[in-house]
Amino acid sequence: MKYISTRGQAPSLDFEQVLLTGLAADGGLYVPESLPTFSSEEIAAMAELDYPQLALRIIEPFVAGSIPADDLQAILDETYAEFRHDAVAPLVQLANNQWVLELFHGPTLAFKDFALQLLGRLLDYVLERKHQKVVIMGATSGDTGSAAIEGCKRCKNIDIFILHPHGRVSDVQRKQMTTVVGDNIHNLAVQGNFDDCQAMVKASFNDRSFLAGDRSLVAVNSINWARIMAQIVYYFYAAVALGAPARKIAFSVPTGNFGDIFAGYLASQMGLPVERLIIATNRNDVLHRVMTQGSYGRQPLEHSLSPSMDITVSSNFERLLFDLYDRDGSAIAGLMADFEKGEISFSEQAMGRARALFSSQCVDDAATCAQMAETWERCEYMLDPHSAIGVKAAIDAELPAGVPVVTLATAHPAKFPAAVKEAGLDDEPFLPHHLRDLFDRPERFEVLPNELSAVQSFMVDNLNS
Ligand SMILES: *Cc1c(COP(=O)(O)O)cnc(C)c1O
Repeated sequence: MKYISTRGQAPSLDFEQVLLTGLAADGGLYVPESLPTFSSEEIAAMAELDYPQLALRIIEPFVAGSIPADDLQAILDETYAEFRHDAVAPLVQLANNQWVLELFHGPTLAFKDFALQLLGRLLDYVLERKHQKVVIMGATSGDTGSAAIEGCKRCKNIDIFILHPHGRVSDVQRKQMTTVVGDNIHNLAVQGNFDDCQAMVKASFNDRSFLAGDRSLVAVNSINWARIMAQIVYYFYAAVALGAPARKIAFSVPTGNFGDIFAGYLASQMGLPVERLIIATNRNDVLHRVMTQGSYGRQPLEHSLSPSMDITVSSNFERLLFDLYDRDGSAIAGLMADFEKGEISFSEQAMGRARALFSSQCVDDAATCAQMAETWERCEYMLDPHSAIGVKAAIDAELPAGVPVVTLATAHPAKFPAAVKEAGLDDEPFLPHHLRDLFDRPERFEVLPNELSAVQSFMVDNLNS
């Protein structure tokens, strides 16, 4: 399988190369040159497969030429054995035609484990064969950091450095990063804010000379293609369980960077009968404005009860735009250059195509809390604030009668106890058993000043040989 850039000017890469690359050299994002497709008979036959077997069916064509099927199956078996539910991604019914797909049974209780548990193993597999070592660097304000650390903790060929703003992430989120033990895991608490951390990561990727020697720097944010690829699997898994391909299924997806829902779009392009993809956002509604007004522009960040969706730009949206504009890389390069200067508008044709599959809904904090309370009162089911946004959007979406809608439950409520309290639920969310002693575990992190040179010299001094 070959991968091409959305801006049309970077060389095409194979899977192994794309795994180790972040942004393309032309500033674009990598996408597959063509998609594998499945017939109705092939999709119907997926009902017999368990999660790791289904993952093999979906992922194998994307890594063809880089990883043999037997090795891939072994990696997938190991990856999804880390999840604390036999179904890996169980469906729960909330009402007639209303379902929740629980994606929080992985080690860090958010859906990011589906991709990052796999990414760490894929990287280690490829690096081992190339006799190469890499450095992962990332900044986090929430779920990505802990999922990346958990995903890489056993990787011999990776040193991982995760920067977080000192004293500014929630206790659960910090503990999930800093209590993971491993010589290759480095938590850096920077005396600055999240933007400072992210600026340091950006500067390091732009000038990698501080890492003199042969280690390359790898990104684990959702621009990494392998993360998207892993997320396609659960759309097939849920739809087939609910009667696809004989029935069309709709999905409601709590959305930030557009990575998770883009995987749903790919599933539909691969043959899965998807009735609709609902983009559910909080008050940071850049994508809701795209869908309702056809314009794309930054607005100031608003902090919400669903912090993992607090973004002002959705980077993966560029991958959808590439298709909406007939895969014309120069058109995308032009649009993105204009976007750097201000708000842009999309063509009627592009918006028509987007609206044929996608709709959107913006849910503020008050409506999020109301949905958490309503679902609790009606079903005694506790939603985390991100998933509650998805459920609210699913209920308000006007779908044809009889179409089941699946909301992706992206996090466990115990990650967000403050929001549960604010919603007035009369129960507290408990951490799952394997994390009950989280607050008693020793933490390991390094407090560093808000200076690039301090961070970079710490990294160089602490690389494993
Ligand atoms: C990352 C995250 C999201 C947003 O996912 P995107 O792929 O960025 O759209 C939603 N909910 C939770 C809990 C997350 O951690």
